[in-house]
Amino acid sequence: MADSAIASYKTSPELSKAWAGLASWRALETNFGLGEQFLSVWHAWKNDPKAPRLLHYVGLTDEPTTFEALSHAARQYPELQPLLDELKVHWMALLPGFHRIVLNDGQVLLTLCIGELTKLLRDQQFETDSVFLNPGTSITALSDVWNSWTVKALARCCYRGTLVSLSPSALPLHSELKACGFQFDASSLWGVFNPHWEIKRSRGAFNLTTESVGTCAVIGAGLAGASVAAALAKRGWQVQVLDTAPLSAAGASGLPVGLVVPHVSVDDCAQSRLSRSGVRLMLQQARHLLRRGQDWADTGVLEKQLDGTQDMAQTAIFHQQAAWLKPTQLVRAWLAQTGVRFTGQAEVASLKKQSNEWLLLDGEGREIGRAQQVVFANAGGALPLLEAMQAEEPRLNLNRLPPVHGMRGLLSWGLHASAPEAANANFPTLPVNGSGSVIPWIPIEPESNSNAASEQAWYVGSSYQVDKQPELADAVNHLANLERLKQLMPELGENLTPVFQSEQVQHWKNTRCVTLDRLPLVGPLYEADHPSLWICAGMGSRGMSFSVLCAELLAAQWGNEPLPVGAALARSLFSLRGRGQQAPNPQD
Ligand SMILES: Cc1cc2nc3c(=O)[nH]c(=O)nc-3n(C[C@H](O)[C@H](O)[C@H](O)COP(=O)(O)OP(=O)(O)OC[C@H]3O[C@@H](n4cnc5c(N)ncnc54)[C@H](O)[C@@H]3O)c2cc1C
Repeated sequence: MADSAIASYKTSPELSKAWAGLASWRALETNFGLGEQFLSVWHAWKNDPKAPRLLHYVGLTDEPTTFEALSHAARQYPELQPLLDELKVHWMALLPGFHRIVLNDGQVLLTLCIGELTKLLRDQQFETDSVFLNPGTSITALSDVWNSWTVKALARCCYRGTLVSLSPSALPLHSELKACGFQFDASSLWGVFNPHWEIKRSRGAFNLTTESVGTCAVIGAGLAGASVAAALAKRGWQVQVLDTAPLSAAGASGLPVGLVVPHVSVDDCAQSRLSRSGVRLMLQQARHLLRRGQDWADTGVLEKQLDGTQDMAQTAIFHQQAAWLKPTQLVRAWLAQTGVRFTGQAEVASLKKQSNEWLLLDGEGREIGRAQQVVFANAGGALPLLEAMQAEEPRLNLNRLPPVHGMRGLLSWGLHASAPEAANANFPTLPVNGSGSVIPWIPIEPESNSNAASEQAWYVGSSYQVDKQPELADAVNHLANLERLKQLMPELGENLTPVFQSEQVQHWKNTRCVTLDRLPLVGPLYEADHPSLWICAGMGSRGMSFSVLCAELLAAQWGNEPLPVGAALARSLFSLRGRGQQAPNPQD
C-alpha cells in the first residue's frame, strides 16, 4: 500500500470523524494511482453504519492504470476483493476526460478524471470535504507536475475547513501549500484549508446549490423527468412527478425500442464527448434496473458512415459500449424508486408562488402538486408553460433560453415471424446505425392476459420532419425509412420492400424536442442565488444517451457535488446559454 500517512488515515477513525453527520461526503485525490486509497475509503464507508448516504470520490490521474495492476496492488487485502469485483465491470473505455462510475447501488460515485493535473483541477466545480495529496512520484518529477498554479487550482476546490492528508512524498510542496492557505499540524502530514484572507469565488455568477434537501415537483414523466426524479430521490429529496397522460412515458419516451450509442465526430465535439459520458451512465442504469435480453441488451452497435460520394462507399465503426433499450421500462423503474411519486392525468397549466413553495395548478386552477423546487422536464411543453407564468415570476429569463423545435419521427416495424425468409436471413444479429437505423430481433412480450408466446420484432427508423410543417402521411414516412434502410443495408432493403409496399408494416410515432445545437438544456430558469425553477429538456434524438447525464448534472449542481463531466463541458448544456446557436442539420 502507498505510504504510512495514507495507511494510518485508512485505519484510523479519522474518516468516521470527517464525515459524521453529513448527508454526502466528497473526497478529491490528486493521484488515483493504483486505487488503494479509493478502495480503502469505500471499504471504510461501507463498514460505518453512520456513514453519509452518498460517497463522492474524485480521482485524478494522468493515465488510467490497468485493472490487473489495481488487483495486484490490493492483493494482500482480501476485504477489498468484493469491491474490486464490482469495479471491474466498469473499468473500460477510459479515454482522457471525466468518467463517472456508479457503485454500491448508486451510493458510491467515483469520478475518474484522466488528463494533466492542473487542467483537471481547474475543470472541477465543487468544494471538496477532504483532499488526499499523494504525488506518488520522485522529487524531481514532482516539480514537473506540481507548480504554484497547480496548488492554486487545488485551493479553489476547497472551502474553509477542507481537510488535507499528505503523503511524505508531498512534503516538498509544503511552502507552496501554506502560501495558498493550507495550515498543517506538527506532523506536517495533516492539514486544513484555512487561509487568513477572505475566500473569493469567481466560478459561476450565482450559487446554484439548494440549502438542503426538501420537496421537488417534476413536470413530465419521460426519460428526462423520471431520471431527474430518481437522481434527486437517491439524494434524499421527496419528488412528485406529474404528467398529462395517465401513464408514464407517454411522449417520445414511449419509443418501443431505441439505441444507446455514442455520437461520433471528426473533431470530437461537445456532443460526442457528452454522449460518451451519457452512454456510460445509461448503461450502468440499465445493468442495475432492467432485465438483460428482455428490456435491453449491450450487444454493441455497428455504425455505418456513408461518405456521401456517388458509389456510397461506407466505413464502419463498432461501438462496443452501446445497446438497444426499451425506455418505457426504465422510466417505470425510475418512478418506482423510494422517494418518487407519480401522478398521472395531471396536466400542469400554471404555477403560483406561495411562501417558499410553488403550487402546481391544473386548467381549472385546482392544486395538483406543491413543492419547494420545480423542474420542467416536459420537453416541448415547457416553453408555453413558462411563457404563461412570466407574470408570476418576472425573473424568468426566457430570452436566454435557447429555442427548441419539435421534430416528428416515425419508426417502422414488423414481426420477424411474418418477414420474408430472405429478409430474416439478411437481418444483422445486432443493431446497425447510420443515417437511420435497423434494430433487429427484439423480444416483445405478449399482453399480460394472453397465452401467446413471446415474439421478436424488427424496427427501422426514423423519419425526421419539423412539426411546423403539415404532417406527412404515414405511408410517405415508411417509404423514407425504407430508403434509409436501402442505403444502410441494400440487400435487406430489397428483401423488405414487399413488406413496406403491401402496407403490412406497422408504425410508432412521436415528436422529439430539439435544440439548435443538439445539446439538452439543464439548469436554472433565472439568474439568482438558489433558483427554484429549473429545466431539463431538449433531449433531441438522443434522450437515451443524455437523460441520465443531465439528471446527474442537475442533482450535482443542487448539492454542490462533483460534476459527472468537466465544468467546461457541463457549461455547453447550461440552460441559459443564449439564443445564438447554429441552425440544425436536418439529419438525425
Ligand atoms: C421516432 C423516434 C425515434 C427515436 N429514437 C431514439 C433512439 O434510438 N435513441 C435515443 O436516444 N433517442 C431516440 N429518440 C429520442 C427520445 O425518444 C427522446 O429524446 C426522449 O424520449 C425525450 O424524453 P423527454 O422526457 O425529454 O420527453 P417526453 O418523453 O416527450 O416526455 C415529456 C412528457 O411531458 C409531459 N407533459 C408535457 N406538458 C406537460 C404539462 N403541462 N403537464 C404535465 N405533463 C406534461 C408529456 O405528456 C410527456 O410525457 C427517438 C424519438 C423518436 C420520436
